[in-house]
Amino acid sequence: MVKQASFFPQAIYGTTTQDPEGVPRVLIAPHRYIQGQGTLDHLGQYISIIGSERPVVLFSAGGEKRFGEQIGHSLKSVGIRYTMEIFKGECSESEVKRLTSLLKNKAPDTDAVIAVGGGKCMDVGKVVAFHLGVPMVTCPTIASTDAPCSAVSVMYSDEGVQIGPEFFPNSPALVVVDTRVIIKAPIRQLVAGMGDALATYYEARTCFQNPRARSVIGARPTIAALAISELCAKTLFENGMSAVDAMLRQEPNEAFEQIVEANTLLSGIGFESGGLAAAHAVAAGLTEIPVLHRDFFHGELVGIGILTHLLLEGKAEEATEASEFMAGVGLPIHAGQLSLDMKKDVPSIKKAMEGAVSSSLTEAEPFEVSPEKLFAAFVEADLLGVKIAQASGDAAYGRLHP
Ligand SMILES: [Zn+2]
Repeated sequence: MVKQASFFPQAIYGTTTQDPEGVPRVLIAPHRYIQGQGTLDHLGQYISIIGSERPVVLFSAGGEKRFGEQIGHSLKSVGIRYTMEIFKGECSESEVKRLTSLLKNKAPDTDAVIAVGGGKCMDVGKVVAFHLGVPMVTCPTIASTDAPCSAVSVMYSDEGVQIGPEFFPNSPALVVVDTRVIIKAPIRQLVAGMGDALATYYEARTCFQNPRARSVIGARPTIAALAISELCAKTLFENGMSAVDAMLRQEPNEAFEQIVEANTLLSGIGFESGGLAAAHAVAAGLTEIPVLHRDFFHGELVGIGILTHLLLEGKAEEATEASEFMAGVGLPIHAGQLSLDMKKDVPSIKKAMEGAVSSSLTEAEPFEVSPEKLFAAFVEADLLGVKIAQASGDAAYGRLHP
């Protein structure tokens, strides 16, 4: 079965319905989530859950070097015949076309796509799986994105400019997370993942409380999604610092396992089913500033977005709590730490706030959000961040941003 047409969940759940009562509550999640030390050694066993006998494994060139032999061994040990393909680095239409037609010619009996790597590799794998009409398996090698669990890919041009989301009717059939692999990834990526994960609760709460707000898939959030996002924040506050220590010592512990789950599963379900709001709007707007797009991770931009979001909503106490946590794990909490100058860069920050509002994510807020209002909240966030950084010292930030 080959599928080509795009899929729009928003049209299905009725995001255009004027009557909020007519929009259903929808929870979306991967079919199986498997996390532990050494799980990649047992990938072959796990693949048997979905009955795949001819999967293709997608990696970056570096990923194949690191994991090719281990995964090949695991698949062979249970009699699975597989092909391996190298993903060229961009989740673009042309890369999807190249891989899809390559597989149709070379391995027409492909019955599952296994993507091993970072966000873009998993995202491209999801599109290829959708076009081939086969299940998707994600094996993240970093814990910094919501890509492993979601039924959406972020598409880019070949030059790396973000184009927009592409949605799928199926969530990944299996998510296999090997914490022995994740602990070897750069620590700044785990910390950035914490920034992205921390936003989940504040944004899901905003969406839940505003009957006009919609989740990412155009539905209303369930209380399950809200509870998952709240647990995500609680897990971060309780275990974030200890997980950073574990990673510095290269010794996985319970806190590290919990943070990997929070960054990957709780944040993944929470964002997709709970919804986004001002924090992600700010992060999206800030990517228009070249130095931020180039030098900072998504979760780091979401971090300053959280502070702006909370201050926009008048939640100063929570903003202080969030910024203290972020300072402790090493996330940037003010403009200076994002290499911005609050005097010189005001015009580009103001333009970024216009971009944030035009992303339409601020529509989830219970009041009208103008670029001026958002900029005022950003200025307030910067002042708070400077104050917290001075009080707590910026040793953690300095360690990740030498
Ligand atoms: Zn995000």
